Amino acid sequence: MRFLSTFISVIFLFIVGCKQLNTPNVSSHSTSNQNQAVNISKKDSKCCVVILVGLPGSGKGTHSEYLCKKLGFTYFSMGEALRQEIASGSELGKKVKPIYNAGKLVPDEAADQIMQKFFSTMSSNKLLFDGFPRMVPQAKLLHSSLKKIFVDMNIKVLLLDISEDIAKERVVERFFCKECKAIYTEKTMPFKNFRCKRCGSIEFIKRTDDNAAIFAERVKVYKNETLPVLDFYKELGISYHVIDTSLSVEEVSKKIEKIILKN
Ligand code: AMP
Repeated sequence: MRFLSTFISVIFLFIVGCKQLNTPNVSSHSTSNQNQAVNISKKDSKCCVVILVGLPGSGKGTHSEYLCKKLGFTYFSMGEALRQEIASGSELGKKVKPIYNAGKLVPDEAADQIMQKFFSTMSSNKLLFDGFPRMVPQAKLLHSSLKKIFVDMNIKVLLLDISEDIAKERVVERFFCKECKAIYTEKTMPFKNFRCKRCGSIEFIKRTDDNAAIFAERVKVYKNETLPVLDFYKELGISYHVIDTSLSVEEVSKKIEKIILKN
């Protein structure tokens, strides 16, 4: 009897152990504060870092979602993290709300705070950054923070290319499902009691900064502050890849995937 219970305990512990080994430590398209904290042993690891750069409306969010699901990247979007802070009513959220609503970049201290929060819980060595870094000082900070953790970094910088007119049209017209953040326009949600095709929700939201006037400000910031980030990486020997996003979502995703998987 005693032998039998010991035997059952050993089998149980073995099964639990196997399950833990099989649990992936990357979250699919999770935002910064949804990641689980598991320390990556310092100075002994490789990482793959993808940085998506592009005008508002260029499809950074859409393609991030695909890449996280398909290739298991852990996602960080500064804009999404800021929206969560604003929605939570935190002190930080209150401070950044007017700046966010004006389409300007939030101050360094706020961006640093959010980035540090992400790094303190980050458990993956496949990282996808959407809308971050958005200026050279942020790129420097990100690079030095990654260097403290990873020895070998494979960094891919992708510029999602789109005309300003198309980007503006997309941004001004888009709505998001409140639950799953699927994107719609008035054309794609044509009737009143429309349900989200992905999750069935009937609630949709419009971002406070998705209007023509603020779009113009965001473009100005993009040209003045964000495009120089490409030169920063070029100086480090990391050339950026230009992706034409006028193609279908599937075609663009395939192109991006090919670049990421190529060593
Ligand atoms: P996004 O969701 O990427 O379109 O960003 C929306 C807004 O969040 C931007 O217009 C800025 O106000 C703010 N934001 C996003 N990323 C950054 C960043 N890296 N640094 C400062 N502010 C940012």
